[in-house]
Amino acid sequence: MSTLLQRKMSAPLDEAALMEEILARKAALGQELLILTHHYQRQEIVSLGDARGDSFALSRKAADSGKARFIVFCGVHFMAESAAILAQPHQTVQIPDPQAGCLMADMVDLDLVSMAWEELSEIVGPGMISPIVYMNSDASLKAFCGRHGGAVCTSANARIALPWGLAQREKVFFFPDQHLGRNTARLLGLGPEDLIVWDPEQPLGGNRPDDIRRARLILWDGHCHVHTRFTVEHVLRRRQEFPGAKVVVHPECTEEVVALADACGSTDFIVEYVRQAEPGATVVVGTEINLVARLALEYPDRQVLDLHYSLCPNMFKINPAKLLATLENLGEVNVVNVPEDIKSEARLALDRMLALKL
Ligand code: SF4
Repeated sequence: MSTLLQRKMSAPLDEAALMEEILARKAALGQELLILTHHYQRQEIVSLGDARGDSFALSRKAADSGKARFIVFCGVHFMAESAAILAQPHQTVQIPDPQAGCLMADMVDLDLVSMAWEELSEIVGPGMISPIVYMNSDASLKAFCGRHGGAVCTSANARIALPWGLAQREKVFFFPDQHLGRNTARLLGLGPEDLIVWDPEQPLGGNRPDDIRRARLILWDGHCHVHTRFTVEHVLRRRQEFPGAKVVVHPECTEEVVALADACGSTDFIVEYVRQAEPGATVVVGTEINLVARLALEYPDRQVLDLHYSLCPNMFKINPAKLLATLENLGEVNVVNVPEDIKSEARLALDRMLALKL
């Protein structure tokens, strides 16, 4: 009888016993096991991880982790899928809950992107567009970019990946997060006249042919509901409550919120921003609540506040009980498999990203 079945038939472990059991299994497996945890995971999970970071840092870690036979990815599904694409043949990648998806990633799929690509190519001609896909996407879209000379990017390297794409070809087609695309375009000095948004429900994405010919950047009409929850009013209220506070936000926020912030960057950037704040400083953070709460715990000598409460329900699906169930069934349950043909083309796009100099 499996340990999992035995557990179901007996009383569930309490939190402390769960943590103890996980730590014991980690100690027994040593370097054979690598637990990767995203910044948005709850504190208990992060405390059990071997490495924590944003999706860029964790994808690098996965690519460099030759010693581990088992990689357990505590994050959402597209992240574990990227780790599986970058993993070596002797490695198995598992996710404690395969239902931990991403609503933004679900706003786009291969059929929709392929239709848009055909329509765009008919108007601007073949070979004029670099496709760049945000890490927050299905593996089939990463493979699409690999096949068409494009790359993957994360919020940590979008400001390098988009110019790279524009240097290869006249235009970049970026999906699925329009806000990361728009905020990055602003950093690069592109104006509103250089951008169009592609709404997959409209003919030509809701654009006129001339607008498509003129655009440098074509942005998919997608967003992260965790970060678009932050509003201008939230920033103004916090500034009124805490004059002198610094506001740092994630680039998946709207451009109006980013424009009012003191700084904007990936989750790793935000962690570093708080670390570098002076003791006694107040920092207001516009990103997922688990990261904000942990920063507040880790830096008690400065005041770290949320811009507004915003939780990613998918990240929160991972908990110690599910992690332990995965560790009890290493190599067997919730294994993340990517078909070989998709894997090789997606890997091309991920490798192009990893080769970009930050
Ligand atoms: S925070 Fe947003 S982009 Fe990240 S996993 Fe959650 S829904 Fe997806």
